[in-house]
Amino acid sequence: MIIDSRSHLPQLSDEAGVQRLPDIRPAARAGLGAVFLNTEANQDNQDWVTRSLAAVWHPCTQMKHHERMPLVPIARGKGAWLYDPAGNRYLDSISSWWVNLFGHANDDINRALKDQLDTLEHVMLAGCTHAPAVELAERLSALTQRTLGHAFFASDGASAVEIALKMSFHFWRNGGCADKREFVCLANSYHGETIGALGVTDVAIFKDAYDLLIRNAHVVASPAVAGVDAAVGAMRALFEQRASSLAAVIVEPLVQCAAGMAMYDASYLTRLRALCDEFDVHLIADEIAVGCGRTGTFFACEQAGVWPDFLCLSKGISGGYLPLSIVLTRDEIYTAFYDDDVTRGFLHSHSYTGNPLACRAALATLDLFDSANVLAENTRKAALLREALQPLTKHERVRNLREHGTIFAFDVDIDHQEAKRTFSRRFFANALQRELLMRPIGSTVYMMPPYVLRDDELLLLAQRTRDTLDATFAERVE
Ligand SMILES: *Cc1c(COP(=O)(O)O)cnc(C)c1O
Repeated sequence: MIIDSRSHLPQLSDEAGVQRLPDIRPAARAGLGAVFLNTEANQDNQDWVTRSLAAVWHPCTQMKHHERMPLVPIARGKGAWLYDPAGNRYLDSISSWWVNLFGHANDDINRALKDQLDTLEHVMLAGCTHAPAVELAERLSALTQRTLGHAFFASDGASAVEIALKMSFHFWRNGGCADKREFVCLANSYHGETIGALGVTDVAIFKDAYDLLIRNAHVVASPAVAGVDAAVGAMRALFEQRASSLAAVIVEPLVQCAAGMAMYDASYLTRLRALCDEFDVHLIADEIAVGCGRTGTFFACEQAGVWPDFLCLSKGISGGYLPLSIVLTRDEIYTAFYDDDVTRGFLHSHSYTGNPLACRAALATLDLFDSANVLAENTRKAALLREALQPLTKHERVRNLREHGTIFAFDVDIDHQEAKRTFSRRFFANALQRELLMRPIGSTVYMMPPYVLRDDELLLLAQRTRDTLDATFAERVE
């Protein structure tokens, strides 16, 4: 059955100066994740796909889907583009899972890393210290006007979340309030996938299978769904009832990305901060996805005029180069662990904590923010993308086109169940044929491009996103 026709789509013009592309490659139907024409160059691609599927267990994937869903071997990257071994290119429209800020193989970050590589690749951060870690801690603290005076390093976002949760609990315990050991998260929240982080995550598909392993947090209405007033009211009601048992509330400031780019007003954060102060509950801001300029300010919390007690950073902080995460916290919290008694200290560690290469990549990333007017340029580019996406607002299947900073998203209304279930994978395959790397979240299509996208690339992204939507709706779904 044909689930939709393209006839209702607005006529796509070349007004943006972007050439309308013919379909470059036929759709992926050849099995084993193939998306490529059967040419010799593409045979190289196919070999990597076959070997990968035989040896690599890919993340966040039902591997059987690769019987039909393409797997894309990437040989190299430059700027916003990724290239496969056969020379096909793909615009990294989602910054490689939201991590890449200044493009692939960025000259400045490369130079800094090569220099660091010849100087010091790694040393443990317990008992030793090194310039990249010190400078990074100092510079991040300065970006919070020294409100968050200490930085604790780890490797991935989920471990930063674990650290913030443990620190909060341990802080209260050190202060004689061991009863404060429960956590609060928002509905549809996502804070990572280790067992502790899943406790404050509210995405069924990631946590249901592990339910018996998880200590679940209180889940409170999200302002992105319930509205700010209702969400603040729900939080107040929980605090009034249980504040003496609550260690911390954790939120994704401004945008709940994994929930499908669910956005809410900054006033919620201002009011949540006030509630946390009133009831003595820590506020943890998980800025792993929204930090580093993504929402228009360096930290998303700046838009609410508040600072949390713990701020988690990862993803973009290393420019998308190396695994690095950081928990920034207030000196009052740091001081509560400072004692002659070893067990009152925070004994948490990871082997690669504060890795000099990763810290150096982060310093080079901060240099890029300093050297170019990145945030203002992003505002200008966002306006351009907004305009280029305008035709989508007239599309009868497109709902709720929204944006915050350099994040753009819309929901796609699909009535046919099977079409809806497979939409994300089919869109992904159709996007690849139009040189876009995109991964819708369910039926939410989003763009989170690297900051280095040129104006013509932004227009190309908008045009081909519309083409991809068009092609996906035109597909026959059994
Ligand atoms: C990605 C993400 C995490 C987890 O980070 P990992 O590095 O994938 O462990 C946590 N919180 C938010 C908001 C994220 O977007």
